[in-house]
Amino acid sequence: MEQPRVTANGNIGPIDSSRIPRYAGAATFARLPRLDEVDRADIAVVGVPFDSGVSYRPGARFGSNHVRESSRLLRPYNPALDISPFERVQVADAGDMAVNPFNINEAIETIQQNALDLTADGTKLVTLGGDHTIALPLLRAASERAGAPVAMLHFDAHLDTWDTYFGAEYTHGTPFRRAVEEGILDTEAISHVGTRGPLYGVKDLEDDRRFGFGIVTSSDVFRQGVDEVIAKLRDRIGNRPLYISIDIDVLDPAHAPGTGTPEAGGITSRELLEILRGMRGMNLIGADVVEVAPAYDHAEITGVAASHVAYDLVSLMADQATTNTTAEER
Ligand code: MN
Ligand code: MN
Repeated sequence: MEQPRVTANGNIGPIDSSRIPRYAGAATFARLPRLDEVDRADIAVVGVPFDSGVSYRPGARFGSNHVRESSRLLRPYNPALDISPFERVQVADAGDMAVNPFNINEAIETIQQNALDLTADGTKLVTLGGDHTIALPLLRAASERAGAPVAMLHFDAHLDTWDTYFGAEYTHGTPFRRAVEEGILDTEAISHVGTRGPLYGVKDLEDDRRFGFGIVTSSDVFRQGVDEVIAKLRDRIGNRPLYISIDIDVLDPAHAPGTGTPEAGGITSRELLEILRGMRGMNLIGADVVEVAPAYDHAEITGVAASHVAYDLVSLMADQATTNTTAEER
């Protein structure tokens, strides 16, 4: 097995797919080196195979590895952002967090602690879920590292600000209500994007507004277009430390069938990628892509979409590292 290749500025890049077939060997994200193969990483892609918080179809515990498998075709240059992210900064695959599937409270503690450990040296995380429960401990860690409540863009068909299910406080439908209650979100700068579908009642929206969330619905994206949406979101977030949480069910089921709680009328993968690229230059400190459930996927549609979304998140972070930090400082 050939070693991962060294890029022009000394970072270890992905395996060269012009020499080693893409489909050969164990999968890491984008064929990047494992974290234990590099000194340190500026950006780490880490899996959290946990889905004990779901309310409908289970299976997102298999999402992390599915996205890795579907990421074999990613190439090292991102023309949409004119950046070679793996050359600009060191990116590595940190493997999976070992999370207890039988105890949600313990799982949340484990994820929070692992995220803090992984980011101790300034590494930024792009996390592959897993169900949306994992966003809460990831946000706790991000907020602790930022030393302040963080801004958030939440891409999802759903609000995920419900209170409880069957009396349970920690589920994939409740992480952002908990996060607001815990004071780890900057409620001046939080917004859902892509929401749609039936709710339990109008109170869901009233509660959500009271917590401070703005909403850009799936219809808004269609009717206003991505440029206007991007302008609104940038205006709302400013230069605050920003966490981006992406539930893959924000995409229409045509673009992401492999997920646990699908809703008709979603945005396209093109729209999602365009909106993300519109966040260029913002102060992105962490991100996740969650709710990929491969048992309901077909032809890797969802896995490919999620892997491209993760790739653009990595690209945004790498781009920002170069605009905020001189080579000497690095
Ligand atoms: Mn959702
Ligand atoms: Mn969600």
